[in-house]
Amino acid sequence: MSRLRAALVVHYHEISLKRGNRPVFLRHLARNLERAVADLGPLRAERRPGRIVLDLGDHPAPEAVAERAARVFGVASVALAWRTSSTLDAMKAVIGRLVEGRAFASFRISARRAFKTYPMTSVELNRALGAFVLERVATRVDLERPEMEIAVEVLPDETFVSLGRRPGPGGLPVGASGTVAALLSGGIDSPVAAWRMMKRGCRVLFVHFHSVPYLPATSQAKARALAERLTAWQYDGALYLVPFGEIQREVVLSVPGPARVVVYRRLMVRIAEALGRARGALALATGESLGQVASQTLANLARIGEAATLPILRPLIGMDKLEITAEAQRIGTYEISIEPDADCCTLFVPRHPATWMSAEEVQAAEARLDVPGLVAAGVEGATLETFAFPPSLAVPAAPPA
Ligand code: ATP
Ligand code: MG
Repeated sequence: MSRLRAALVVHYHEISLKRGNRPVFLRHLARNLERAVADLGPLRAERRPGRIVLDLGDHPAPEAVAERAARVFGVASVALAWRTSSTLDAMKAVIGRLVEGRAFASFRISARRAFKTYPMTSVELNRALGAFVLERVATRVDLERPEMEIAVEVLPDETFVSLGRRPGPGGLPVGASGTVAALLSGGIDSPVAAWRMMKRGCRVLFVHFHSVPYLPATSQAKARALAERLTAWQYDGALYLVPFGEIQREVVLSVPGPARVVVYRRLMVRIAEALGRARGALALATGESLGQVASQTLANLARIGEAATLPILRPLIGMDKLEITAEAQRIGTYEISIEPDADCCTLFVPRHPATWMSAEEVQAAEARLDVPGLVAAGVEGATLETFAFPPSLAVPAAPPA
């Protein structure tokens, strides 16, 4: 008998796709799948009706391929499958090989037809193939909680048979929604915010503000480690490191204490926007969550937003710290974020920042500054670092400088 042909079948949530978006979604998903597994041995993503298929041929590490693919945004589930032709005999031959020598107390066949003109209905297929299994293995059918589920996906010209699928992360393929510039501090929140934007299909450009030489370079090392870790979800990454210490010093010289935090943030937003626009960003993203700290009151968020001409997306706005922390742990950024560090926002920050600044107060504070000059200094001083996939997933934060 011929060897079984292995393939990875990748499912996405088709119903959630509007017709016009589908080509863009699929193009990015196929490309991201190829990139996610490239270092394991190059594979081509074939688009088949309702699914994407990676033919594994003689691939040495199919499990690793499945594992990687199950982390690609836009994927609903993946299954290691065998490809065969769409005749009942061919399906039986594969299933016979799969169940041979296995013991399982119960099973079910889950047949699905990707086209409805197949001569048998799914129910008829389930019955015929189920009876075939019962002839060979001492087991029983359990439709509710089977120990083994044999999925049979019938396409016009071929059929995929698999045992069990693993869930993917859902969301949209990175790139399908365009680029956002994410303000990445060394804290817990902003990496989670960046990850959430990636999950909604955004390519994220990272922007970090540091206060070297006024503070040690630890915040840069953390931002780098975070950007690298997050690159595992988007396959390449770029991080701008913006010198902010001198800008903060200028602010301290002329802006009263309570107004400084909002003024700093507005300068950050303007600089990030200039850097982001040059790389095609359509929006900014921050880790702000309503009411978490003084700068995150509704009024102050409004003042920060008024400094931007691009929309500011705040994916964590309605989350509390516990929820954000749990997500940071799940995605592997938490351990980097909690490394000790002196963030630029601890520098020159007043004890009692204003919690409710009016537009007039902000204007008065900024009237004493050369805002365009400060923004230009930040943009011109920024340096760019890039990351390639696959990054080491265990990047330790660098020790304090
Ligand atoms: P985080 O945990 O993300 O640092 P936070 O709870 O400390 O957030 P803030 O200090 O008010 O809150 O910062 C709000 C947002 O502003 C951050 O989530 C981040 O997007 C951005 N931000 C703050 N500091 C920096 C920085 N040094 N570089 C880049 N972005 C920053
Ligand atoms: Mg912070």
